[in-house]
Amino acid sequence: MSTYSRIAAAALIFLAAPAMRLAAAQAPDPVLAAAIEDLVAASRILADQGVVDAYGHVSIRHPHHPNRYLLSRSLAPARVTAVDIMEFDLDSNPIDRQGRNLFIERFIHGEVYKARPDVRAVVHSHSPAVIPFSITPVPLRPVLHTAAFLWPGVPVWEIRDTTLVTDLLVRNAQFGKALAVTLGDKPVALMRGHGNVVVGEDVQTAVARAVYTEVNARTLTIALGLNAPIDYISNEEGAFKDKHPSSETRAWDLWKEKAMNK
Ligand code: MN
Repeated sequence: MSTYSRIAAAALIFLAAPAMRLAAAQAPDPVLAAAIEDLVAASRILADQGVVDAYGHVSIRHPHHPNRYLLSRSLAPARVTAVDIMEFDLDSNPIDRQGRNLFIERFIHGEVYKARPDVRAVVHSHSPAVIPFSITPVPLRPVLHTAAFLWPGVPVWEIRDTTLVTDLLVRNAQFGKALAVTLGDKPVALMRGHGNVVVGEDVQTAVARAVYTEVNARTLTIALGLNAPIDYISNEEGAFKDKHPSSETRAWDLWKEKAMNK
């Protein structure tokens, strides 16, 4: 090969490399695509089940990069599609903003993922039935077997412990971190006068917990109105259920089919 040919061949490889890299980046990634599909379904399910309305959001820890998470651009959860899903680092900075509006309260997700390596999905909602348990001393305790996961207790986060007067939104990492501290190792924490944060080791679990936390709060409120002693799910029953978890697949499949066909 002449010197000229060698230079030409090298130049060709040099020129082709970026195109090859681009092709690799755009190659379908089935694991990431499945995570995005799950996240879209989770958004739609939470809206369809009445856990979120125009507000609220759900995220998944990135399946390949544990220091990132997937969350939609700022959008009502019922309207989320795959193209709306964005990547964030754990300081809640977008990896590629593309000029899009972001959820103000995305710091909830980043700070919980930082504090909880076991968590792979986070729901933030204004779950209406839980609010009374965030503004009174009445604790949210499990009364349904499907909400037995609440047995370790449901802490209430008070934003005034960090800053006295706010609009109650988790607008920065400082508030997000304080909320994550209140959550501790629990599955659910309430946010006074606002809503809750619900976590899970996968998105199906986090969604089922968010749904049954709402249902349990509704049921407990009715029971409290009967003014009679309440038989709560005991700590022993809760711990037993933790050791023998039931599959969330049946509920997920039903909820997804219903929510995605709207
Ligand atoms: Mn909120």
